[in-house]
Amino acid sequence: MAEFTMELNDEQKEVRDWLHGFAADVIRPAAAEWDEREETPWPVIQEAAKVGIYSLDFYAQQYFDSTGLGIPMAMEELFWGDAGIALSIVGTGLAAVGVLANGTEEQIGTWIPQMYGDPNDVKVAAFCSSEPDAGSDVGSMRTRAVYDEAKDEWVINGTKTWATNGGIANVHVVVACVDPELGSKGHASFIVPPNTPGCSQGQKFKKHGIRASHTAEVILDNVRVPGSCLLGGKEKLDERLARAREKAKHGGERVKNAAMATFEASRPAVGAMAVGTARAAYEVALDYAKTREQFGRPIIDNQGVAFQLADMRTQIDAARLLVWRASWMAINGKPFTAAEGSMSKLFASETAKKVTAQAIQILGGNGYTREYPVERMHRDAAIYTIFEGTSEIQRLVIARTISGMPIR
Ligand SMILES: Cc1cc2nc3c(=O)[nH]c(=O)nc-3n(C[C@H](O)[C@H](O)[C@H](O)COP(=O)(O)OP(=O)(O)OC[C@H]3O[C@@H](n4cnc5c(N)ncnc54)[C@H](O)[C@@H]3O)c2cc1C
Repeated sequence: MAEFTMELNDEQKEVRDWLHGFAADVIRPAAAEWDEREETPWPVIQEAAKVGIYSLDFYAQQYFDSTGLGIPMAMEELFWGDAGIALSIVGTGLAAVGVLANGTEEQIGTWIPQMYGDPNDVKVAAFCSSEPDAGSDVGSMRTRAVYDEAKDEWVINGTKTWATNGGIANVHVVVACVDPELGSKGHASFIVPPNTPGCSQGQKFKKHGIRASHTAEVILDNVRVPGSCLLGGKEKLDERLARAREKAKHGGERVKNAAMATFEASRPAVGAMAVGTARAAYEVALDYAKTREQFGRPIIDNQGVAFQLADMRTQIDAARLLVWRASWMAINGKPFTAAEGSMSKLFASETAKKVTAQAIQILGGNGYTREYPVERMHRDAAIYTIFEGTSEIQRLVIARTISGMPIR
């Protein structure tokens, strides 16, 4: 087990500087354009693929870093560049992790390369769990997958919503209900291969922020996928369902859900994205406060402005520490006895919203225009308190974990 450290090693610093260079030279200059276009920034993804940032290898290398700092460091730098473009670059990774976590070796080898494509023909992937009536309440999922034994195929029907890269993805990972009586324990994940009949894009959402990232509904109308597309395979699913039915019979309410542990481990990554956006806005505000003069002196000369910047920096550093702690715990298998993963996401996302709003205030009228990036950063920051579990859901998870009570 790696000791918890707050210091990046030389190799990590090198990777961080390389990512920072890409974020500063390629992502940041493209940010305003793709925000206005509200389209997937394919040329930037392609550029990231060419240098090796948009690849499973890079993602896996950071993911398996035993210090736990690889992923948060990478997320912070890319999202420092721009949140919408960075999400377009890392969105495929979220689907890939779904396959890595639940798939067989064969499934991993078959599907993950198709999620990324290659630098001359980049592809993206989508992870589709949320539904119009199943957002925070994942247990209400209605999308059904029914096994057709005669053909060894699964037939999937339902509507997914809010899917990042939904409809434009080469590979969709779809969570569906295979046993409605078991609630969220009766869910399974499926690969929907490229060009599968019945899988189509519904409405594409026009959003408040992260507008370079494509978000859409995914319609699944009698989608037939081979039995081999069930992640983990049928035998493993049948065993898991049998265990869940058994536990349900014996009052399985309090049985720990493996999905909860997965969320605790993935949430710090979203926290790190929020730290990246917050840091970006803070840096713009600090520079501005040092150069903008009113009443014959820089505005930072006023405690009212300087203290805001002091608070912003303190909160960003505190958020990063919570994120790094939770990431270290996740990779080293430490139990999340106080929902530390949720804590890190809650604090970092709320910090990003607050800090980006303060940055607008410090820039005054300029902060309110699209001539300066803090207005976009503030719009982008609002997503962090919503996706991967809203702030209220994080508080619910933390409250339940620390109290051991089924708080509602
Ligand atoms: C840009 C974007 C990208 C996304 N990408 C993906 C993706 O790739 N794949 C995917 O599957 N999903 C994705 N999502 C969906 C996202 O995870 C959900 O939006 C989120 O989980 C919240 O669900 P909801 O929108 O249905 O809100 P609701 O669950 O309807 O919540 C509405 C409000 O009620 C509050 N609330 C709900 N229940 C409780 C409770 N018990 N106690 C207190 N408050 C409560 C919430 O906190 C929130 O404030 C994305 C969403 C967005 C906006």
